[in-house]
Amino acid sequence: MTEMDMAGPWVTEHEEQAVLDAMRHWYGRDAYHYCEAFETEFARWHDRAHALMTPSCTTAIHLLLAGLGVGPGDEVIVPECTWIASVAPVVWQGAVPVFADIDPAHWCVTAETIAARITPRTKAVIVVDLYGNMPDYRPIEALCRERGITLVEDAAEALGSASRGRRAGKYGTGSVFSFHRTKTLTTGEGGMLLLDDESLFERCKLLRDHGRQPGEYYNLVVGFKYMPSNVQAALGYAQFQRIDELVAKKRWILESYRRKLADLPDLQLNPEPVDGVNGVWCTTLVFGRSHGLNRDRALAELTRRGLPARPFFHPLTTLPAFAAVGVHHDNPVAHDVSGRGINLPSALNLDEAQIDAFCAALRDMVGAGPLPPHSGV
Ligand SMILES: *Cc1c(COP(=O)(O)O)cnc(C)c1O
Repeated sequence: MTEMDMAGPWVTEHEEQAVLDAMRHWYGRDAYHYCEAFETEFARWHDRAHALMTPSCTTAIHLLLAGLGVGPGDEVIVPECTWIASVAPVVWQGAVPVFADIDPAHWCVTAETIAARITPRTKAVIVVDLYGNMPDYRPIEALCRERGITLVEDAAEALGSASRGRRAGKYGTGSVFSFHRTKTLTTGEGGMLLLDDESLFERCKLLRDHGRQPGEYYNLVVGFKYMPSNVQAALGYAQFQRIDELVAKKRWILESYRRKLADLPDLQLNPEPVDGVNGVWCTTLVFGRSHGLNRDRALAELTRRGLPARPFFHPLTTLPAFAAVGVHHDNPVAHDVSGRGINLPSALNLDEAQIDAFCAALRDMVGAGPLPPHSGV
Protein backbone atom coordinates (compact mmCIF):
# COMPACT_ATOMS: atom_id res chain seq x y z
CA MET A 1 0.00 0.00 0.00
CA THR A 2 1.38 3.39 -0.96
CA GLU A 3 1.50 6.23 1.53
CA MET A 4 -1.78 8.11 1.97
CA ASP A 5 -1.85 11.74 0.89
CA MET A 6 -3.95 14.46 2.52
CA ALA A 7 -4.58 16.17 -0.80
CA GLY A 8 -3.41 15.86 -4.35
CA PRO A 9 -4.58 16.14 -7.93
CA TRP A 10 -5.77 13.70 -10.58
CA VAL A 11 -4.10 14.70 -13.84
CA THR A 12 -4.27 12.59 -17.00
CA GLU A 13 -2.83 12.60 -20.52
CA HIS A 14 -5.78 14.77 -21.55
CA GLU A 15 -4.41 17.65 -19.44
CA GLU A 16 -0.84 16.98 -20.61
CA GLN A 17 -1.90 17.39 -24.24
CA ALA A 18 -3.63 20.72 -23.51
CA VAL A 19 -0.56 22.08 -21.70
CA LEU A 20 1.65 21.00 -24.58
CA ASP A 21 -0.64 22.80 -27.00
CA ALA A 22 -0.54 25.99 -24.90
CA MET A 23 3.26 25.85 -24.75
CA ARG A 24 3.36 25.82 -28.54
CA HIS A 25 1.32 29.04 -28.66
CA TRP A 26 3.06 31.35 -26.18
CA TYR A 27 2.64 34.48 -28.22
CA GLY A 28 0.36 36.21 -30.71
CA ARG A 29 -3.37 36.09 -31.07
CA ASP A 30 -3.70 32.83 -29.12
CA ALA A 31 -1.70 34.05 -26.11
CA TYR A 32 -4.78 33.91 -23.85
CA HIS A 33 -6.82 31.33 -25.75
CA TYR A 34 -7.07 28.83 -22.87
CA CYS A 35 -7.70 31.56 -20.24
CA GLU A 36 -10.66 32.86 -22.20
CA ALA A 37 -12.04 29.40 -22.99
CA PHE A 38 -11.71 28.34 -19.35
CA GLU A 39 -13.39 31.55 -18.13
CA THR A 40 -16.28 31.13 -20.55
CA GLU A 41 -16.92 27.48 -19.66
CA PHE A 42 -16.48 28.03 -15.93
CA ALA A 43 -18.90 30.96 -15.87
CA ARG A 44 -21.52 29.06 -17.90
CA TRP A 45 -21.37 25.97 -15.66
CA HIS A 46 -22.00 28.19 -12.63
CA ASP A 47 -24.76 30.19 -14.34
CA ARG A 48 -22.70 33.38 -14.01
CA ALA A 49 -22.39 36.10 -16.63
CA HIS A 50 -18.64 36.70 -16.22
CA ALA A 51 -15.43 35.06 -15.04
CA LEU A 52 -11.89 36.38 -14.54
CA MET A 53 -9.06 33.91 -14.02
CA THR A 54 -6.39 35.07 -11.56
CA PRO A 55 -3.03 33.78 -10.27
CA SER A 56 -4.76 32.48 -7.10
CA CYS A 57 -7.99 32.61 -5.15
CA THR A 58 -6.38 35.04 -2.71
CA THR A 59 -5.78 37.52 -5.54
CA ALA A 60 -9.33 36.94 -6.84
CA ILE A 61 -10.68 38.03 -3.44
CA HIS A 62 -8.37 41.06 -3.44
CA LEU A 63 -9.44 42.02 -6.96
CA LEU A 64 -13.12 41.78 -6.01
CA LEU A 65 -12.72 43.83 -2.81
CA ALA A 66 -10.82 46.49 -4.73
CA GLY A 67 -13.48 46.47 -7.47
CA LEU A 68 -16.17 46.91 -4.81
CA GLY A 69 -14.27 49.84 -3.31
CA VAL A 70 -13.77 48.20 0.10
CA GLY A 71 -11.23 50.32 1.98
CA PRO A 72 -10.29 52.17 5.15
CA GLY A 73 -13.23 52.76 7.47
CA ASP A 74 -15.09 49.68 6.23
CA GLU A 75 -15.74 46.52 8.19
CA VAL A 76 -15.99 43.13 6.49
CA ILE A 77 -17.58 40.23 8.36
CA VAL A 78 -15.64 36.96 7.98
CA PRO A 79 -15.88 33.49 9.56
CA GLU A 80 -13.88 32.78 12.71
CA CYS A 81 -12.82 29.46 11.12
CA THR A 82 -11.46 29.51 7.56
CA TRP A 83 -8.14 29.57 5.73
CA ILE A 84 -6.32 32.90 6.23
CA ALA A 85 -6.68 33.66 2.49
CA SER A 86 -10.35 34.56 3.00
CA VAL A 87 -9.33 37.41 5.29
CA ALA A 88 -5.86 38.66 4.28
CA PRO A 89 -7.12 40.76 1.31
CA VAL A 90 -9.54 42.57 3.65
CA VAL A 91 -6.51 43.70 5.65
CA TRP A 92 -4.54 44.62 2.49
CA GLN A 93 -7.39 46.97 1.53
CA GLY A 94 -7.13 48.73 4.89
CA ALA A 95 -10.55 47.48 6.00
CA VAL A 96 -11.23 45.75 9.31
CA PRO A 97 -12.17 42.04 9.49
CA VAL A 98 -14.89 41.31 12.04
CA PHE A 99 -15.04 37.65 13.03
CA ALA A 100 -18.39 35.81 13.19
CA ASP A 101 -19.17 32.45 14.75
CA ILE A 102 -19.87 29.27 12.79
CA ASP A 103 -22.76 26.80 12.95
CA PRO A 104 -22.24 23.47 14.73
CA ALA A 105 -24.04 21.54 11.97
CA HIS A 106 -22.33 22.83 8.80
CA TRP A 107 -19.34 24.81 10.19
CA CYS A 108 -20.11 27.94 8.10
CA VAL A 109 -21.46 31.32 9.29
CA THR A 110 -25.25 31.81 9.39
CA ALA A 111 -27.64 34.74 9.00
CA GLU A 112 -27.81 34.89 12.82
CA THR A 113 -24.05 34.95 13.43
CA ILE A 114 -23.61 37.55 10.66
CA ALA A 115 -26.45 39.73 11.99
CA ALA A 116 -24.78 39.80 15.42
CA ARG A 117 -21.69 41.43 13.87
CA ILE A 118 -23.34 44.14 11.72
CA THR A 119 -22.50 47.76 12.54
CA PRO A 120 -23.04 50.98 10.55
CA ARG A 121 -19.54 50.42 9.09
CA THR A 122 -20.27 46.94 7.69
CA LYS A 123 -19.65 46.99 3.95
CA ALA A 124 -19.49 43.32 3.04
CA VAL A 125 -19.60 39.77 4.35
CA ILE A 126 -17.43 36.94 3.05
CA VAL A 127 -19.21 33.62 3.52
CA VAL A 128 -16.96 30.55 3.16
CA ASP A 129 -18.27 27.16 2.00
CA LEU A 130 -16.04 25.27 4.43
CA TYR A 131 -14.67 21.91 3.25
CA GLY A 132 -17.41 21.87 0.57
CA ASN A 133 -20.25 22.43 3.07
CA MET A 134 -22.70 25.26 2.43
CA PRO A 135 -24.81 27.35 4.80
CA ASP A 136 -28.48 28.05 4.10
CA TYR A 137 -28.01 31.06 1.80
CA ARG A 138 -31.69 32.05 1.64
CA PRO A 139 -31.77 33.94 4.98
CA ILE A 140 -28.22 35.25 4.41
CA GLU A 141 -29.22 36.77 1.05
CA ALA A 142 -32.32 38.30 2.64
CA LEU A 143 -30.30 39.80 5.49
CA CYS A 144 -27.70 41.30 3.14
CA ARG A 145 -30.39 42.77 0.87
CA GLU A 146 -32.24 44.28 3.85
CA ARG A 147 -29.13 45.82 5.43
CA GLY A 148 -27.44 46.94 2.20
CA ILE A 149 -24.41 44.67 2.69
CA THR A 150 -22.48 43.12 -0.21
CA LEU A 151 -22.39 39.32 -0.08
CA VAL A 152 -19.21 37.56 -1.27
CA GLU A 153 -19.01 33.77 -1.53
CA ASP A 154 -15.62 32.14 -0.99
CA ALA A 155 -16.30 28.86 -2.80
CA ALA A 156 -12.61 27.84 -2.94
CA GLU A 157 -13.43 24.53 -1.25
CA ALA A 158 -16.85 23.98 -2.79
CA LEU A 159 -16.37 23.25 -6.49
CA GLY A 160 -19.20 20.81 -7.32
CA SER A 161 -21.34 21.66 -4.28
CA ALA A 162 -24.90 22.95 -4.80
CA SER A 163 -27.92 23.99 -2.78
CA ARG A 164 -31.53 24.60 -3.86
CA GLY A 165 -30.72 24.22 -7.54
CA ARG A 166 -27.81 26.66 -7.54
CA ARG A 167 -24.15 25.72 -7.59
CA ALA A 168 -21.69 26.98 -5.00
CA GLY A 169 -20.27 30.04 -6.73
CA LYS A 170 -23.70 31.38 -7.73
CA TYR A 171 -24.28 33.13 -4.40
CA GLY A 172 -23.58 36.77 -3.71
CA THR A 173 -22.38 39.67 -5.85
CA GLY A 174 -19.19 37.78 -6.57
CA SER A 175 -17.68 34.41 -5.78
CA VAL A 176 -14.16 33.01 -5.89
CA PHE A 177 -12.52 29.63 -6.50
CA SER A 178 -9.02 28.24 -5.94
CA PHE A 179 -7.04 25.98 -8.25
CA HIS A 180 -4.19 25.55 -5.78
CA ARG A 181 -2.35 22.21 -6.02
CA THR A 182 -4.39 20.88 -3.08
CA LYS A 183 -7.80 21.74 -4.50
CA THR A 184 -10.28 19.52 -6.40
CA LEU A 185 -9.40 21.13 -9.75
CA THR A 186 -5.82 22.31 -9.97
CA THR A 187 -3.61 24.53 -12.11
CA GLY A 188 -0.77 24.35 -9.56
CA GLU A 189 -1.59 27.89 -8.52
CA GLY A 190 -4.65 29.68 -9.85
CA GLY A 191 -8.03 31.16 -9.07
CA MET A 192 -11.26 32.45 -10.57
CA LEU A 193 -13.60 35.35 -9.84
CA LEU A 194 -17.25 34.95 -10.92
CA LEU A 195 -19.56 37.96 -11.34
CA ASP A 196 -22.94 38.82 -12.85
CA ASP A 197 -22.83 42.63 -12.79
CA GLU A 198 -21.47 44.08 -16.04
CA SER A 199 -19.90 47.26 -14.65
CA LEU A 200 -18.28 45.49 -11.69
CA PHE A 201 -16.84 42.98 -14.16
CA GLU A 202 -15.41 45.79 -16.32
CA ARG A 203 -13.88 47.45 -13.25
CA CYS A 204 -12.29 44.21 -11.99
CA LYS A 205 -11.02 43.39 -15.49
CA LEU A 206 -9.36 46.81 -15.73
CA LEU A 207 -7.77 46.44 -12.27
CA ARG A 208 -6.48 42.93 -13.14
CA ASP A 209 -4.03 44.23 -15.77
CA HIS A 210 -2.49 47.47 -14.51
CA GLY A 211 -5.57 49.51 -15.43
CA ARG A 212 -4.54 49.41 -19.06
CA GLN A 213 -6.76 49.79 -22.08
CA PRO A 214 -6.73 46.55 -24.05
CA GLY A 215 -3.65 46.34 -26.24
CA GLU A 216 -2.40 49.80 -25.24
CA TYR A 217 0.44 51.16 -23.11
CA TYR A 218 -2.17 53.54 -21.77
CA ASN A 219 -3.21 53.15 -18.14
CA LEU A 220 -6.45 54.57 -16.78
CA VAL A 221 -5.87 53.69 -13.10
CA VAL A 222 -3.15 52.14 -10.95
CA GLY A 223 -4.30 48.55 -10.69
CA PHE A 224 -2.74 45.17 -10.01
CA LYS A 225 -0.88 42.61 -12.08
CA TYR A 226 -3.18 39.65 -11.54
CA MET A 227 -3.13 38.19 -15.06
CA PRO A 228 -3.26 34.40 -15.30
CA SER A 229 -0.84 32.25 -17.31
CA ASN A 230 -2.22 30.61 -20.45
CA VAL A 231 -0.20 27.43 -19.76
CA GLN A 232 -1.79 27.07 -16.34
CA ALA A 233 -5.18 27.92 -17.84
CA ALA A 234 -4.71 25.06 -20.34
CA LEU A 235 -4.30 22.68 -17.41
CA GLY A 236 -7.39 24.18 -15.77
CA TYR A 237 -9.46 24.05 -18.93
CA ALA A 238 -8.66 20.38 -19.49
CA GLN A 239 -9.21 19.53 -15.81
CA PHE A 240 -12.58 21.25 -15.99
CA GLN A 241 -13.63 18.99 -18.86
CA ARG A 242 -13.26 16.16 -16.30
CA ILE A 243 -15.13 18.00 -13.52
CA ASP A 244 -17.83 15.34 -13.04
CA GLU A 245 -15.20 12.63 -12.62
CA LEU A 246 -13.15 14.71 -10.15
CA VAL A 247 -16.15 15.59 -7.97
CA ALA A 248 -17.47 12.00 -8.12
CA LYS A 249 -14.16 10.74 -6.73
CA LYS A 250 -14.29 13.30 -3.90
CA ARG A 251 -17.82 12.16 -3.06
CA TRP A 252 -16.75 8.51 -3.19
CA ILE A 253 -14.03 9.30 -0.62
CA LEU A 254 -16.58 10.86 1.79
CA GLU A 255 -19.10 8.05 1.23
CA SER A 256 -16.40 5.42 1.82
CA TYR A 257 -15.44 6.93 5.17
CA ARG A 258 -19.11 7.32 6.06
CA ARG A 259 -19.95 3.73 5.25
CA LYS A 260 -17.00 2.31 7.17
CA LEU A 261 -17.76 4.38 10.29
CA ALA A 262 -21.56 4.23 10.02
CA ASP A 263 -22.06 1.93 13.03
CA LEU A 264 -20.17 4.28 15.37
CA PRO A 265 -22.26 6.87 17.25
CA ASP A 266 -21.38 10.52 17.78
CA LEU A 267 -19.09 11.14 14.80
CA GLN A 268 -19.88 14.03 12.44
CA LEU A 269 -18.75 14.10 8.79
CA ASN A 270 -19.44 16.77 6.11
CA PRO A 271 -23.23 17.20 5.78
CA GLU A 272 -25.07 17.71 2.48
CA PRO A 273 -26.22 21.33 1.90
CA VAL A 274 -29.94 22.24 2.11
CA ASP A 275 -31.67 20.52 -0.81
CA GLY A 276 -28.33 19.96 -2.51
CA VAL A 277 -25.08 18.09 -2.75
CA ASN A 278 -21.61 18.45 -1.21
CA GLY A 279 -18.57 18.51 -3.54
CA VAL A 280 -16.45 17.50 -0.50
CA TRP A 281 -13.08 19.06 -1.25
CA CYS A 282 -11.93 17.55 2.06
CA THR A 283 -13.63 14.94 4.22
CA THR A 284 -13.64 16.31 7.76
CA LEU A 285 -14.47 14.48 10.99
CA VAL A 286 -15.67 16.13 14.20
CA PHE A 287 -15.52 13.79 17.22
CA GLY A 288 -18.57 13.95 19.48
CA ARG A 289 -17.82 14.79 23.11
CA SER A 290 -18.64 11.22 24.22
CA HIS A 291 -15.37 10.04 22.66
CA GLY A 292 -13.25 12.18 24.97
CA LEU A 293 -10.89 12.66 22.02
CA ASN A 294 -9.93 16.19 21.18
CA ARG A 295 -8.29 17.32 17.94
CA ASP A 296 -4.72 17.29 19.21
CA ARG A 297 -4.98 13.88 20.91
CA ALA A 298 -6.58 12.40 17.77
CA LEU A 299 -3.78 13.81 15.59
CA ALA A 300 -1.14 12.41 17.98
CA GLU A 301 -2.80 8.97 17.93
CA LEU A 302 -2.87 8.96 14.13
CA THR A 303 0.75 10.09 13.87
CA ARG A 304 1.74 7.28 16.24
CA ARG A 305 0.07 4.87 13.80
CA GLY A 306 1.94 6.39 10.84
CA LEU A 307 -1.20 7.97 9.36
CA PRO A 308 -1.59 11.55 8.13
CA ALA A 309 -4.33 13.98 9.21
CA ARG A 310 -4.61 17.72 9.70
CA PRO A 311 -6.31 19.93 12.28
CA PHE A 312 -9.64 21.62 11.55
CA PHE A 313 -8.90 25.30 10.82
CA HIS A 314 -7.87 27.11 14.00
CA PRO A 315 -10.08 30.00 15.15
CA LEU A 316 -8.32 32.83 13.32
CA THR A 317 -8.38 35.15 16.34
CA THR A 318 -6.17 32.66 18.22
CA LEU A 319 -3.40 32.95 15.61
CA PRO A 320 -0.44 35.33 16.07
CA ALA A 321 -1.29 36.82 12.65
CA PHE A 322 -4.53 38.27 14.01
CA ALA A 323 -3.39 39.11 17.55
CA ALA A 324 -3.64 42.83 16.80
CA VAL A 325 -5.82 42.67 13.70
CA GLY A 326 -9.58 42.89 13.37
CA VAL A 327 -12.51 43.01 15.77
CA HIS A 328 -12.51 39.92 18.00
CA HIS A 329 -15.68 38.57 19.57
CA ASP A 330 -16.48 35.54 21.67
CA ASN A 331 -17.20 32.85 19.06
CA PRO A 332 -17.63 29.74 21.21
CA VAL A 333 -18.90 27.33 18.54
CA ALA A 334 -15.81 27.92 16.38
CA HIS A 335 -13.55 27.12 19.33
CA ASP A 336 -15.57 24.05 20.27
CA VAL A 337 -15.84 22.53 16.77
CA SER A 338 -12.24 23.36 15.82
CA GLY A 339 -11.08 21.71 19.05
CA ARG A 340 -12.71 18.41 18.09
CA GLY A 341 -12.21 18.36 14.31
CA ILE A 342 -9.66 16.81 11.95
CA ASN A 343 -9.32 16.63 8.16
CA LEU A 344 -9.05 13.09 6.81
CA PRO A 345 -6.83 12.14 3.86
CA SER A 346 -8.75 13.24 0.76
CA ALA A 347 -6.28 13.07 -2.14
CA LEU A 348 -7.83 12.18 -5.48
CA ASN A 349 -5.59 9.08 -5.76
CA LEU A 350 -6.90 7.35 -2.59
CA ASP A 351 -7.97 3.72 -2.93
CA GLU A 352 -10.27 1.61 -0.84
CA ALA A 353 -7.49 -0.28 0.96
CA GLN A 354 -6.06 3.01 2.22
CA ILE A 355 -9.44 4.20 3.48
CA ASP A 356 -9.93 0.78 5.16
CA ALA A 357 -6.60 1.15 6.94
CA PHE A 358 -7.44 4.68 8.09
CA CYS A 359 -10.90 3.67 9.33
CA ALA A 360 -9.46 0.67 11.17
CA ALA A 361 -7.17 3.06 13.05
CA LEU A 362 -10.03 5.44 13.85
CA ARG A 363 -12.17 2.55 15.08
CA ASP A 364 -9.35 1.38 17.31
CA MET A 365 -8.90 4.90 18.69
CA VAL A 366 -12.54 5.24 19.74
CA GLY A 367 -12.57 1.72 21.21
CA ALA A 368 -14.77 0.16 18.51
CA GLY A 369 -14.32 -3.25 16.94
CA PRO A 370 -12.68 -3.89 13.58
CA LEU A 371 -14.37 -3.02 10.31
CA PRO A 372 -17.50 -5.11 9.85
CA PRO A 373 -17.21 -7.55 6.92
CA HIS A 374 -18.67 -6.46 3.58
CA SER A 375 -18.35 -2.78 4.47
CA GLY A 376 -17.01 -1.97 1.04
CA VAL A 377 -18.56 0.81 -1.00
C1 LIG B 1 -7.49 27.48 -0.70
C2 LIG B 1 -8.37 28.56 -0.18
C3 LIG B 1 -8.21 29.91 -0.53
C4 LIG B 1 -7.00 30.44 -1.24
O1 LIG B 1 -6.69 29.87 -2.40
P1 LIG B 1 -5.29 30.22 -3.12
O2 LIG B 1 -5.56 29.80 -4.52
O3 LIG B 1 -4.26 29.40 -2.43
O4 LIG B 1 -5.04 31.66 -2.99
C5 LIG B 1 -9.14 30.83 -0.12
N1 LIG B 1 -10.18 30.47 0.66
C6 LIG B 1 -10.36 29.20 1.06
C7 LIG B 1 -11.55 28.87 1.88
C8 LIG B 1 -9.45 28.21 0.67
O5 LIG B 1 -9.62 26.96 1.09
